[in-house]
Amino acid sequence: MSPAVYLTVDIDRDANIPVKGEVAAGSAGGETRFAASMQGFYQLTKIMADKGANGSYFFEARTLNNIMEVKKRFDAMLGGLDDFMKGQAVGCHGIDHEDLTGQLTEVEVPKDDVVKILFMSKQVVSEAFPENEVNGFRAPYLKVNPTVLEAAAEAGFTVDSSLTVSEDFHRKSISPDAEQFVELPGGVTGLKELQGNGVTAPPKPFDIETPAGSLKEIPLPMINVADKPRTTYFWPLFEGKMTHEEFTERILSVLDEDNGKLLLALHTWHLVCKADGNLHDKTDGLFEGTYYFKKVLKGLMEAGVEFKPLEW
Ligand SMILES: [Zn+2]
Repeated sequence: MSPAVYLTVDIDRDANIPVKGEVAAGSAGGETRFAASMQGFYQLTKIMADKGANGSYFFEARTLNNIMEVKKRFDAMLGGLDDFMKGQAVGCHGIDHEDLTGQLTEVEVPKDDVVKILFMSKQVVSEAFPENEVNGFRAPYLKVNPTVLEAAAEAGFTVDSSLTVSEDFHRKSISPDAEQFVELPGGVTGLKELQGNGVTAPPKPFDIETPAGSLKEIPLPMINVADKPRTTYFWPLFEGKMTHEEFTERILSVLDEDNGKLLLALHTWHLVCKADGNLHDKTDGLFEGTYYFKKVLKGLMEAGVEFKPLEW
């Protein structure tokens, strides 16, 4: 079987940052912005469509509303955004990129409000893509706790992809008494082993039982990238910590060592601007984030890697 990459794409406001005292997120380096994210979504979907690569798209509702206002441009480019999306998995990423746990913003969001936010985000994404089943949720900043997971089940989600696989991170991202709530899957690699080996076994999906129903958790793996255990976001590539050759090599070596399946993640704004909010330089007429993404996709596909949507 060919090795497979499950690329998960967060479509959220540009270079988003939590704002103390505010539920909604802001953008680094100034006012809340959406332009880079929209432009990045435009570039990414075009590249993916050209290559016949499929993936999974977690939409922040506010950013999606902005995209839908200029949908004609996407339709012209892709021969129909709806058609393109039919082959993809589509999920939700909040309305205003809320820190639903309040850990980063110091604003407590009551559970009823969390349910409302998640329910409404599901409505917005379902209305935009009526042909897709919108069952998946990824928490903004990957911040969840037992209340948020229960709220996600209550709002009708059946899949979550917010947890990281390393046991330590896992506990941290849930709560100190996480084990009582989440059954850790067998064979999860702890952070120590991870630093030693530089790779975890790719995490298998597992079930999380909440009082409002169960969720299938499709966790983010952690791999050693640029000498640190990290989630498999394209961060080191887009922030200039690795060249596109190094990044492609690293992904291929993980696919080799493991069972040939790996979940990757990126933000659409990162194709256009950096985490500090400044635009990428350009190479060959493309923002470097876009240029590097294209190179990595090409490198992986030439090595025989298939790009598939997460199955849910
Ligand atoms: Zn996000």
